Amino acid sequence: MRMMDTARSDKLFERAREVIPGGVNSPVRAFASVGRHPLFVERAEGARVWDVDGNAFIDYIGSWGPSILGHASPVALEGIGEQALKGTTYGLPTELEIQMAEQIVEAFPGMDMVRMVNSGTEATMSAIRLARGFTGREMVVKFEGCYHGHADQLLVKSGSGALTLGIPTSAGVPGESTRNTLVGSYNDLQGLEELFRNNGGRIAAVIMEPVPGNMGVVAPREGFLMGVRSLCDRHGSLLIFDEVISGFRLAYGGAQTVYGIRPDITCLGKIIGGGLPVGAYGGRREIMSRVAPAGDVYQAGTLSGNPLAMRMGLQVLRHLAKHPEFYRELEEKARFLEEGFGANLRRCGVEAAVNRVGTMVCQFFAKGPVETYRQVMESDTKRYAAYFNRMLEQGILMPPSQFEALFLSGAHEERMLEMTVSAHGKAMETLAEL
Ligand code: PMP
Repeated sequence: MRMMDTARSDKLFERAREVIPGGVNSPVRAFASVGRHPLFVERAEGARVWDVDGNAFIDYIGSWGPSILGHASPVALEGIGEQALKGTTYGLPTELEIQMAEQIVEAFPGMDMVRMVNSGTEATMSAIRLARGFTGREMVVKFEGCYHGHADQLLVKSGSGALTLGIPTSAGVPGESTRNTLVGSYNDLQGLEELFRNNGGRIAAVIMEPVPGNMGVVAPREGFLMGVRSLCDRHGSLLIFDEVISGFRLAYGGAQTVYGIRPDITCLGKIIGGGLPVGAYGGRREIMSRVAPAGDVYQAGTLSGNPLAMRMGLQVLRHLAKHPEFYRELEEKARFLEEGFGANLRRCGVEAAVNRVGTMVCQFFAKGPVETYRQVMESDTKRYAAYFNRMLEQGILMPPSQFEALFLSGAHEERMLEMTVSAHGKAMETLAEL
């Protein structure tokens, strides 16, 4: 395996650390849990990313989800220059915003109306406020290992960067803010039933990633999502699906379409911006009509519905809508990796479990099956770090954390997937020797 030269990245990191906390603008980019400095990017195209030292990688980070058509996709970028020349933000409405809302509402069975925001965090924060305003209740249930952004009230037993860094709850979050947050276990319906039994009339909403992608990928057990839906109905609570990852990725209409469950509010982000900063939350008309200025739940944003982001997002969504075979093909790619990885693991006798739900896939260095947060946490993160580095040395950029999904795109070609499986095989051979 070649030794990678990362001198320029290392130098930039030194400079960055002086003026940016930890040298990065989002924690998981620091590569801390895989024991190295971050790679600074020069450019990306399709499924490839080049760092400032000229190293090329097949990229499975994919900006953590938005780049479903690949980087610098001509579909996403078409006419963006022209659009920018018309002005990049107005603080006044545009037709693009209506087109975006229509596109999203048509895709998601649980949505009649939708409000655009600027990130996934804003979407979940606003959805919770709306659920509280609508029900007149204060408590919220979340599941450990699920990540819903960095709002105070949801930063409890979080997945993603918080899990990677082992920060279960952030400093600076007042006890007051999380007093009304109850934490359940994903895939444990009985536990949720108990939470409802003890706090029944006070729970405004259950918020969940229907298919968690922030503690790695975990599949819902048979009947779990339906069970959550029924408990919410029985207790007059709203069900919020955080489909920031799964929306337009698991299927065009997200996990709710795949599993046939209708949430009351859905949160979106990532793909809908086509690579620019966007989030959204939407739901039944009766609920969404409570959002200001139609209703009494305040929520606003200077850059919300930004014309560049709407244009880029719309172009991606329209492309996906026009090509239903896209999801079949993406799932084929995910299956190819699942099967290839599985065969390598068996051949090398390495203990690991490959989880795949449709187009979402992830490998845990754990015995398996991995169906719960507790089982996720049994993963050997040191082995993951070794695996990550061995893949990197072979030109494959995996997510720099055991607790993240692998992000595939339409630009991942068969040849790249074969190279990935072959590199994985070599990595497993060396891991078996450890
Ligand atoms: N919800 C989920 C399911 C996410 O995966 C993320 C981000 N990874 C968020 C919310 C937060 O989105 P953002 O980082 O855009 O604030």
